[in-house]
Amino acid sequence: MVREQLEARAITDPALLDAFRRVPRHAFAAEPEPPTAYGDHALPLPAGQTISQPYIVAAMTSAAQPPGGWRGAQVLEVGTGSGYQAAILAELGAEVVSIERHRELSRLAAEQLVANGYHGVRLLVGDGSEGAPEWAPYDAIIVTAAGPSIPQPLIDQLAPSGGRLVMPIGSRDHQLVTVVERHGSEVRTRQLEPAVFVPLIGEHGFTDE
Ligand code: SAM
Repeated sequence: MVREQLEARAITDPALLDAFRRVPRHAFAAEPEPPTAYGDHALPLPAGQTISQPYIVAAMTSAAQPPGGWRGAQVLEVGTGSGYQAAILAELGAEVVSIERHRELSRLAAEQLVANGYHGVRLLVGDGSEGAPEWAPYDAIIVTAAGPSIPQPLIDQLAPSGGRLVMPIGSRDHQLVTVVERHGSEVRTRQLEPAVFVPLIGEHGFTDE
């Protein structure tokens, strides 16, 4: 997976590649068959959700790297899903807060994170489009669900000293991974690449249909 899907697509950060080698993706998959779990595709989760394709997890993590690096960085993930992305961030040394709207998914993620030694990840249940202001500011925010625009509460909770937010922005069925960087009151935005994510359902996302 690391060699053929990540290194071959210009993911070069040794620490990030090591994190992908260490986190057992099959442990977080709903159907944990190792050959499938390490394939070049998303995997199904309960509640109609998915674990994203390994490459897109790596590309978004790489784009979200805070200016001071990952070790000790305060990081918010919106959309815990299986807990896989949270485990990658924990491997990188980040202080991870992750929020999920489906209580059952959060419970399963908690089980797998603990079973695999990731005891420090703080899991919340709720509408992550509002962020998690009690643990802000964040050096990095990764939103692993697609919204129509960047939720203002997330911009407000980003560290003003170069905090980065990465999120797929667009319609329900087609988005562009977007990177936001905050410098004081200035917010810089750039677009990375196309993606297809499940929708961010919430106050600052899409409505539940
Ligand atoms: N990062 C996850 C992983 O590593 O397994 C995959 C996340 S999946 C692509 C997107 C997740 O976002 C789903 O679990 C979905 O329930 C969740 N989600 C959607 N809207 C949300 C919201 N407003 N707040 C929190 N989680 C939300």
